[in-house]
Amino acid sequence: MISVDEHRAQVTELLGKRPAVSRPVTECAGLVLAEDVAAPVSLPPFDNSAMDGYAVRSADVAGASEDAPVELDVGVDIPAGLTDVPALPPGTAHRIMTGAPMPDGADTVVMVERTDGGTTRVRIHAESAPGTHVRRAGEDVAAGTVALEAGTVCGPAQLGLASAVGRETLAVFVPPRVLVVSTGTELVLPPQPLAHGQIYESNSVMLGGALRALGCEVTTVRSVADDVDSFRAAIEPRLADVDLVVTSGGVSAGAYEVVKDTLTGAGVTFTKVAVQPGGPQGCGTWDGVPVVTLPGNPVSVLVSFEAFLRPAILSSLGHADPDRTRVRARLLETLTSPQGKRQFRRGYYSHPDGDVTGVVGPRGGPASHLLAALSQANCLIVLDEDTTEAPADSEVDVLLL
Ligand code: AMP
Ligand code: MG
Repeated sequence: MISVDEHRAQVTELLGKRPAVSRPVTECAGLVLAEDVAAPVSLPPFDNSAMDGYAVRSADVAGASEDAPVELDVGVDIPAGLTDVPALPPGTAHRIMTGAPMPDGADTVVMVERTDGGTTRVRIHAESAPGTHVRRAGEDVAAGTVALEAGTVCGPAQLGLASAVGRETLAVFVPPRVLVVSTGTELVLPPQPLAHGQIYESNSVMLGGALRALGCEVTTVRSVADDVDSFRAAIEPRLADVDLVVTSGGVSAGAYEVVKDTLTGAGVTFTKVAVQPGGPQGCGTWDGVPVVTLPGNPVSVLVSFEAFLRPAILSSLGHADPDRTRVRARLLETLTSPQGKRQFRRGYYSHPDGDVTGVVGPRGGPASHLLAALSQANCLIVLDEDTTEAPADSEVDVLLL
């Protein structure tokens, strides 16, 4: 038996590092930058108004108040997007809109609410210190500096910034094309009615969703019979088109273990991992393509994904921290766990008002077929190898899903 950490390290090594590619910014959400993004322009690119109002000289509105407004001639309108902005003659105001360039000569903006809104003459009811409501060129990003560093995860804000400095494409680590294979002669697909002894296939949908959420391009073979020739015939022709194969089922200790029977001695090593659920695991290559073989029970599949595949894929995609957020929480019920195995229990974590630590309760028991309980969980409760009992009210580690 190998440890959770050892198997995770093996899967991570198997997946290696993904190559970098250039992609449109619109297709980079969630991906990691493979390059520094330098800003060829400053942000803002020019001094501009932060308000709708009047661009003036601060000195021309000195002493203005509600009772003693200053009245100025209005020159021109400066809407956002105007590129040839006339300078401001002394003793006058230009009407200016938010985002429009400041005219030469003006050093401050009076917002329209502090004026009578005049279009030929304007009464200004407040003083305005130099720089008020002016957004300075380069105050956000200076041209020539690095706006985003390699290794940054491209969330919405980062993609917004990359676009704002004029980027159309970004070099990112490209997610793998993954073939998801569900094995089991008992598996059928709707709308076929279930005969006694059959179940609807669900693992490939679950895994497909989890993989797509990491940006992977997923194809599926949803039901392969527990027969070596059928398995080979269904998968081998597809190997050339994918970067990773993930199977479920057919790897434990029974008599019809199709994945194990096909791939033992052909590049894949099958092991027992000290984890509950999801002990039977395998990884290796098939005709040079990385293969990760998961057990068949649905809860084992998702727990294995969380424990091994997700961190390995995120590492391959350049994420410095591929782990789920881990918090401590007060356990609402006593849980037991097998000695020597790391147990991942499905739980529901919440944070009652006024409680510094969150609380967590189990959803379902330790059995690995309880899909409804899994669907109610928002976290995994981690009971480590040395823990055999975690009493109610004790603190436990929780991975937030
Ligand atoms: P196995 O690991 O092949 O022995 O499967 C373990 C359990 O998981 C059995 O009860 C299977 O029927 C079930 N199972 C295997 N594959 C799937 C699947 N793709 N969808 C739903 N249940 C499955
Ligand atoms: Mg099976």
